[in-house]
Amino acid sequence: MDITFKKTDILKKHPEDSTLGFGTVFTDYMFNMDYNPQEGWHNPRIEPYGPIVMDPSTMVLHYGQAIFEGLKAYRTDSGDIQLFRPQDNLKRLNTSGHMLCMPELDEAFILEALIKLLKIEKGWVPGASGTSLYIRPTIIATDPYIGLRSSNTYRFFIILSPVGAYYPEGFNPVKIWVTTEYVRAVRGGVGQAKTAGNYAASLYATELAHKDGYTQVLWLDGVELKYVEEVGSMNIFFVIGDELLTPELNRSILSGVTRDSVIKLAKSWGVKVVERRISIDEIYAAHEKGELKEVFGSGTAAVISPVGKIKFNGREITIGDGSVGPLSAKLFKELMDIQYGKAEDRFNWVMPV
Ligand SMILES: *Cc1c(COP(=O)(O)O)cnc(C)c1O
Repeated sequence: MDITFKKTDILKKHPEDSTLGFGTVFTDYMFNMDYNPQEGWHNPRIEPYGPIVMDPSTMVLHYGQAIFEGLKAYRTDSGDIQLFRPQDNLKRLNTSGHMLCMPELDEAFILEALIKLLKIEKGWVPGASGTSLYIRPTIIATDPYIGLRSSNTYRFFIILSPVGAYYPEGFNPVKIWVTTEYVRAVRGGVGQAKTAGNYAASLYATELAHKDGYTQVLWLDGVELKYVEEVGSMNIFFVIGDELLTPELNRSILSGVTRDSVIKLAKSWGVKVVERRISIDEIYAAHEKGELKEVFGSGTAAVISPVGKIKFNGREITIGDGSVGPLSAKLFKELMDIQYGKAEDRFNWVMPV
């Protein structure tokens, strides 16, 4: 399939790198492609970024049949642009799509389309330390129909957004809030898919956490409300004794690319990594015994998000001395260095644009 390019002469002014936040500025162009049962995925095109005009009855607006991905393009010191494990994001997009009854995408073709879009937009990849170009591939159901079934037609698009450093004030630990009243995902649900409804479902508890002075919700499993699953929209890790622990992928947890990178890096350093069920009681017991050394979240946006305090059942504990632990700091630096081309790419994770 040929990817057509509709050029525009009306280009936007680029914001200063120092003013960049997250997700408010979008580049000049986007990639679009449509699906219907007769033609399959068709009409791949790069065209000016702009509104998607749709009928009010469009299915995605009513039943949330939508999936997305999040990855980044990084500018190296020599000015080159590179991606981090993009194939893993595209594979996960298809995994999410499968759960949401959407037609499969040709991953190699989408990667080619993404690279073509990035080549056109490379001037939008910021260069200041810690900044990047956030990439949001998305699929939405587009049938104009309000009966409940899966859609016959879909739109796939990729939009790009230059984003600032995640920690402009330094790499500081966050406070997290454990709830036994609300869950993010349940057994048999769609927790392992990056689908719109999971995020809508997380808003209310997150608001309660904020009201109580906490940044993120630590989600427990939706069956027994006992086992740790994720933190906000990140995967979670614990250093207990000399082991690095993370909840095993149980189909209600999102399989993070950063999670997998953390596991592989830590193992390569000789750290014992264990993936299993971890109860919140076990975390508190480890803290009592002085064995809980570090807690951190992992995800594309923040890379590593150290946790300084946890509140559960009205009791707040401080992790270590409340500052960033050594393994969290080492993982953060190594991952950033690989992503920005400053460290050797031992695992073949980086792809030049
Ligand atoms: C995206 C996401 C993650 C992190 O995945 P990465 O591939 O590391 O960015 C973790 N949990 C949830 C719920 C997510 O949506």
